Amino acid sequence: MPYNYDDQNIFAKILRGEIPCNKVLETEHSLAFHDINPAAPKHVLVIPKGSYVTYDHFAQIASSEEITDFVRAIGKVCKILEVEPSQGGGGFRAISNSGEAGLQEVPHLHVHILGGRNLGPMISKS
Ligand code: 5GP
Repeated sequence: MPYNYDDQNIFAKILRGEIPCNKVLETEHSLAFHDINPAAPKHVLVIPKGSYVTYDHFAQIASSEEITDFVRAIGKVCKILEVEPSQGGGGFRAISNSGEAGLQEVPHLHVHILGGRNLGPMISKS
């Protein structure tokens, strides 16, 4: 089934400047901002500026430039948040909830970067 991007989603509105965000980083193809309802002491969302619904959607059709920019933006956010294990940070978790089973709330690709405490097991087994 093809992806239908809903341009009225909240992150599309943030990208258009219609609602504010607490920006962490902006690059040519990506934007990172603090999650409005943080699940950890450090919780930032990284999104591509393009109209992609999920990670797999992005992986299938984004340009090499967009993909490189997005992956590098995630790395830069880890540096800004000081969570890089190699630099004495406490580590982090990168999560991209996708679709129904992933309980994705906002239908614009986003990667959560979480850190600042022990994040516990990856998922519940129930
Ligand atoms: P999902 O469940 O889709 O993976 O995560 C969506 C995330 O977006 C949630 O963690 C939620 O707190 C965050 N979020 C929802 N609306 C807004 C908003 O208007 N601004 C910001 N900064 N985050 C939002």
